[in-house]
Amino acid sequence: MPKMRAVQVSRPGGPFEIVEREIPEPGPGSIRVKVEACGICHSDSLTKEGNYPGVTFPRVPGHEVIGVVHSVGPGVAAWKTGERVGLGWNGGYCGYCESCRQGDFFACRTATYVTGITSDGGYADYAIARAEAAARVPEGLSAVDAAPLMCAGLTTYNCLRNSGARPGQVVAVLGLGGLGHLAVQFAAKMGFKTIAIARGQDKSSLALTLGASQYIDTRAQNPAEELQKLGGAKVILATVTAADAMEAAIGGLGVNGTLMIIGAVGSLTVPSLLLLRGRQSVKGWYSGTSIDSQDTLEFSVQSGVRSMNEVLPLEKVNEGYDRMMKGAARFRVVLTTGN
Ligand SMILES: [Zn+2]
Ligand SMILES: [Zn+2]
Repeated sequence: MPKMRAVQVSRPGGPFEIVEREIPEPGPGSIRVKVEACGICHSDSLTKEGNYPGVTFPRVPGHEVIGVVHSVGPGVAAWKTGERVGLGWNGGYCGYCESCRQGDFFACRTATYVTGITSDGGYADYAIARAEAAARVPEGLSAVDAAPLMCAGLTTYNCLRNSGARPGQVVAVLGLGGLGHLAVQFAAKMGFKTIAIARGQDKSSLALTLGASQYIDTRAQNPAEELQKLGGAKVILATVTAADAMEAAIGGLGVNGTLMIIGAVGSLTVPSLLLLRGRQSVKGWYSGTSIDSQDTLEFSVQSGVRSMNEVLPLEKVNEGYDRMMKGAARFRVVLTTGN
C-alpha cells in the first residue's frame, strides 16, 4: 500500500508525531484531497489538547486545507479528480434535518462533522472529506494564499457580510492578529468606515496600510470614547480572545450597534443599561460552511485581500504551532507539503 506523511496527536495534550500512514480511501459521498497547504489555526489547539467534545485520538489536526481532488468516492456528483478544493472547519452536514432544511447548514442537528476534530485534517499529504464540505478554489489564488482564508478569512468575511453594517458606516475591528489583519482588509473593501483597534502604536501604520481609516491604540486611548467621537460603531468585530478588551470597547457602539464575537472567551460582562438604551446587541458568529468559504475565496481574488503568512514545511509543524500559540506569527502560519 502506498504511504503518506501525517502529523498526528495520539492523546490529549500529547506531542505532534510525524508518522507514516496508508493513504486513505474515500468512502461513499467522500473525496480524497491531495493536500498542498494547510494553515495553523488557534482552534487546532482544541484537537491537540483534547478540549473539544467528541474529539478522538489519534487525530490529525488542520482545517485550513487547500489541495486537489485526488480520488472520488461512490455517489459523488460534485467533484472530479484534479479540481482545486479547500476544506474548512465545517466538515459537512446531513441536508435533511430541520436546521438544514431551514438553510442553517452550520447548525445541522444530526451530523456534527468537524475537520481535524471528528475526521483527520490537513496536517498530512492526503485528507478525506465529505463532498459537500469542499469549496472550489479559484484560479488566481495560490494554495498558500488560499489556506488561511478557509478559517481566518471565512470567519471574518462571513461575519462582516452578515453584520448588518452598510457601506459608509463605522465598523471597528478589535484586534490585529491573524483574524484582525484580514478583517480590516475585508471591512475596508466592503466599503465600511473601518477603524482598527489594538494595543501599541507600532501597529498603527500596518492598520492604515491594510485599509483602516483610523487606528485606536488602547494603551493610549479609550476605544469606547474614540468610537463615540465618530458617532458610534454600527459593528464592533471582536477578533480578540480577551474579555477585558471587548468590555473596554463595547461602550463605543452606536444606536442599533452590534458587538460581533468570533473569538471565544469564557464569559463577558456587558453594560445592560447601555445596551437597552441604544438598542444594541451582542452576537456570536459561526464561521460558515463550504459555500461561505468559496465566496470568501472569490471575494479575495476580486478585491485583492490576502493573508500575510509565514510558510513552513510540514516537518516544522512544532515550530509553526509554537509561534502561533505564542502570538508571535505575523500573521498566519501555513504548512506546505511540497505536493
Ligand atoms: Zn480555525
Ligand atoms: Zn442537517
